[in-house]
Amino acid sequence: MSGRSEHQKSVPLSVLLKRELANEKIEKPDMVVVYGHASENKKGEDFILLKTECQRVVADGVSTYSVFGLFDGHNGSAAAIYAKENLLNNVLCAIPPDLNRDEWVAALPRALVAGFVKTDKDFQQKARTSGTTVTFVIIEGWVITVASVGDSRCVLEPSEGGSHDLSADHRLETNEEERVRISSSGGEVGRLNTGGGAEVGPLRCWPGGLCLSRSIGDMDVGEFIVPVPYVKQVKLSTAGGRLIICSDGVWDALTAEMVLDCCRGMSAEAAAPHIVKESLQAKGLRDDTTCIVVDILPQEKPPTSVPTLKRPVKGMLKAIFRKKSSQSPYIEKEYVEPDIVQELYEEGSAMLSERLETKYPLCNMFKLFVCAVCQIEIKPGEGISVHEGTDKPGKLRPWDGPFLCLSCQEKKEAMEGKRTSDRLSSGSD
Ligand SMILES: [Zn+2]
Repeated sequence: MSGRSEHQKSVPLSVLLKRELANEKIEKPDMVVVYGHASENKKGEDFILLKTECQRVVADGVSTYSVFGLFDGHNGSAAAIYAKENLLNNVLCAIPPDLNRDEWVAALPRALVAGFVKTDKDFQQKARTSGTTVTFVIIEGWVITVASVGDSRCVLEPSEGGSHDLSADHRLETNEEERVRISSSGGEVGRLNTGGGAEVGPLRCWPGGLCLSRSIGDMDVGEFIVPVPYVKQVKLSTAGGRLIICSDGVWDALTAEMVLDCCRGMSAEAAAPHIVKESLQAKGLRDDTTCIVVDILPQEKPPTSVPTLKRPVKGMLKAIFRKKSSQSPYIEKEYVEPDIVQELYEEGSAMLSERLETKYPLCNMFKLFVCAVCQIEIKPGEGISVHEGTDKPGKLRPWDGPFLCLSCQEKKEAMEGKRTSDRLSSGSD
């Protein structure tokens, strides 16, 4: 066996056969994704990833998905560039092969955690610099999955109206839970002391002085600054909606409501530069200011003529969409659509033992002797259960996975404040 890269590099016959069959059956999604983006740079540390029409072989055809990422580096751009180039692949490698669409979507939250941690760990072995925030969005059908560390945000406005936060705010100033976590892992939370006892600026954690509690690639701070993302997964109704992903340059100037309001009725392409312009008008160019607007729309309307989302009239809009859908000549079969945004998954814990466990019935699909984070092959008996050292008294059996390799186990302990003195340096994979 050649290890972790096997299913990435050589294509098994079964997959080739499937691909042949699949050429006949590329699933026509009933939705379309259109996007726009804009950026005004002050430091040049914001980076974006825009990928639509990614193809994936599934059990009975080819399915497409889209990926959008925003990486806002602090004190340099190395980590942001590294994450932009490697994160998606690390996430995809953590998804078992041969899953059908529903299973693939269900596997995403766990794969995102593994991919974020692997990206952080790999980067730390290459460079000793500052890190990056990440807001990472995967859209498959009507399901949106967002994983985030740091303080860039992603807001959803479904066509039915209202708004949903799909990302976490990992600023120490506003996140008490994270302050408690850091204090109990041995970090210190406080403001900058100017010397005379006067404290200035936002809450930061020491050592390092970062005002965020989570990021990818931070090497000059404590290990309790973890890359474990908050993950939220929702399913839109077939009426669709608009996603707005911005760096803190926008959110420092405008509220979510202001951002959604200022571009309502515009195409995604026009909306993104408009949001950036609005935030510059409000606060001036004080930071990198980046915005991605993504519209997820029903397929029956050609994307160019879609006026996007109008101001929602409570109750009315839903009725309009219903009526249109059932009368549309392009839709052959009746379908039942959910009324509102369905919440499929939400988890923000920093503990790998909670995040690599899965609430979905997927246990058997993950290979037993592969590290759940870096996907390296582990010899039988050498894997360390992700539950090792947690409070599962008496219940832990030697075969209770998921398992980590020694190097990832060290990383896990460091993140939990159990290895305070020695920094990750082994590089054993
Ligand atoms: Zn590992």
